[in-house]
Amino acid sequence: MKESTIGHDDSGLDLPTPAPMRFPFEKTPARGEFAQISPDIYWLRAPLASVLNHINVYLVRDGDGWTIVDTGVGTADTQECWKKLLEAVGGGPIKRVIATHFHPDHVGNAGWFCREYDTKLWMSRTEMLMAKVSSFQSFADVTPEATAFYQAAGFNGRQMEAYYNRRKHGFVYTVEPVPLGYRRLQDGEKVRIGDSAWEVVVGRGHSPEHVCLYSDHHKILFSGDQVLPSITSNVSVMPTEPEGNPLKEWIDSLEAIRDRLPDDMLVLPAHGRPFYGLHARLTALIDGHEKNLRELHAMCVEPKRAIDVFPALFSREISDDILFMATGESIAHINCLIQRGKLARETDAQGVYRYKQTDIPKQNRAHAAE
Ligand SMILES: [Zn+2]
Ligand SMILES: [Zn+2]
Repeated sequence: MKESTIGHDDSGLDLPTPAPMRFPFEKTPARGEFAQISPDIYWLRAPLASVLNHINVYLVRDGDGWTIVDTGVGTADTQECWKKLLEAVGGGPIKRVIATHFHPDHVGNAGWFCREYDTKLWMSRTEMLMAKVSSFQSFADVTPEATAFYQAAGFNGRQMEAYYNRRKHGFVYTVEPVPLGYRRLQDGEKVRIGDSAWEVVVGRGHSPEHVCLYSDHHKILFSGDQVLPSITSNVSVMPTEPEGNPLKEWIDSLEAIRDRLPDDMLVLPAHGRPFYGLHARLTALIDGHEKNLRELHAMCVEPKRAIDVFPALFSREISDDILFMATGESIAHINCLIQRGKLARETDAQGVYRYKQTDIPKQNRAHAAE
């Protein structure tokens, strides 16, 4: 399956799959079904209603019980899938639920597990706080910050309408009430699951304190959305932090993970298929973003709005329903270039931001001023 459409977790950037990547499982479980990765690890392909189609969630043997890694969205059909899997493996206590980050497809059933299976949620602190804050937000409200943000990006009235319509299907509709308490996970910490130690490896950029788990013994990495095999994770600037530079955090994180973890392991991602070739994939992701940055910069010989530079990032047409996410990606690349000193921002008479190169070569200046 080619997964390169824009969902809430992926940008749809088209990047080539590097040769050293290998996909060891010939058969992918059907949507809602599961497979066994190893004697101790089960892989459930939980359904998602979005174009993303599925999320991979994992069940890890933990002594006489189980640890859950990511939960799927908080819907009855995902909960049925979990019940079916738990029954198939003979039941047993759920020792803990680990959510890699606060996005609904990852944390959606954490509250359900805690309530129904008398267990605890383990998560990094920032992700837990983000889950809590998101639970209290009224997504139907039109905020002046969001209006200003997308108008400055160049949205017209119809596009603003599409954005607000989409917001009505927000966090609280696909996430079971988030538990009040949790167990904090921190970078570098070792979590003992069964007989094995799993090291917490934090990444940033897609979400603020994303947890990956690595076991030297199993030679496995649960990579969540931090490393995906065939789509790129969404790295976006949002109205809540308009001057943010998540792309720098993202690239820095990918480089740090490449330096820190060995290459010879099986990567179990949240979307797409398990794969070998972590370093090759990280390098391809970093190089892909650097290429996007160069192409976006090249487009800004003349001043451009955030919505004008999509061709530097996406090979397909951006429809209204995904426009706000594509714009978030576009501004992430723009803010990164501004912080690198390569782009400058000006505001036109309508209050729309326009970006242009700070270092236009002399021969192009006359052209740029037209
Ligand atoms: Zn995801
Ligand atoms: Zn995510």
